[in-house]
Amino acid sequence: MAQPLPDCALTMSHQPQISLYTGGLAETNAYFLKLDDGWLAIDAPEGAAAAVAENGLTVSALVLTHGHWDHIWDAADMVEKFHCPVYYHRDDELLCTNPDVMRDFGLPAKLKPVHAARFLAQDNTLAVAPYTFKILHIPGHCPGSICLHEEQHGFIFGGDVLFAGGVGRWDLPGGSESQLISGIRQKLLPLPGQTVVYPGHGPDTTIGEEKRHNPYLR
Ligand SMILES: [Zn+2]
Ligand SMILES: [Zn+2]
Repeated sequence: MAQPLPDCALTMSHQPQISLYTGGLAETNAYFLKLDDGWLAIDAPEGAAAAVAENGLTVSALVLTHGHWDHIWDAADMVEKFHCPVYYHRDDELLCTNPDVMRDFGLPAKLKPVHAARFLAQDNTLAVAPYTFKILHIPGHCPGSICLHEEQHGFIFGGDVLFAGGVGRWDLPGGSESQLISGIRQKLLPLPGQTVVYPGHGPDTTIGEEKRHNPYLR
């Protein structure tokens, strides 16, 4: 289970240490995973940069699960603060480098652009010791939506693809219900049932739980 910041609890050394920050108008989740060297940040909602600084975390890399404004809000600030590389999928390059394109779709402020140090694509590996993630590209909510699967420790950072009891909305630009549902069926549901999913909104869940009870996947 992800713990809210601040995270002072002692954890078993073989268990991933994951801290959760939720912020912004859309109550977007950011996750911070303790690495051998610093922390891996997953998404950057409003207030995330300040929260990590207050908690004394050093961000060594930032992954954006997709380019929607509620996930990239603090990305530029985090890069400024930590000089960390940013990774996202090439299909969300426009959203990340020119966030103003979402002005007609609920973007409530002017955001600073953020540029990828490296694009992440389907089947790419992201090695951040001691973890190795496999990238799963699952468009349909957003063209560049990715999930990060850590097979050995059995967890996924899922962005806005699969939620506890739900899936990402598909009515925004570039969205597609059929792409989203088929992507989840092909790439997520075959994973082991006990795999923990840390989504971009709401509580964490497991693949097995969603396979059995998610109304969108019947
Ligand atoms: Zn989104
Ligand atoms: Zn979102």
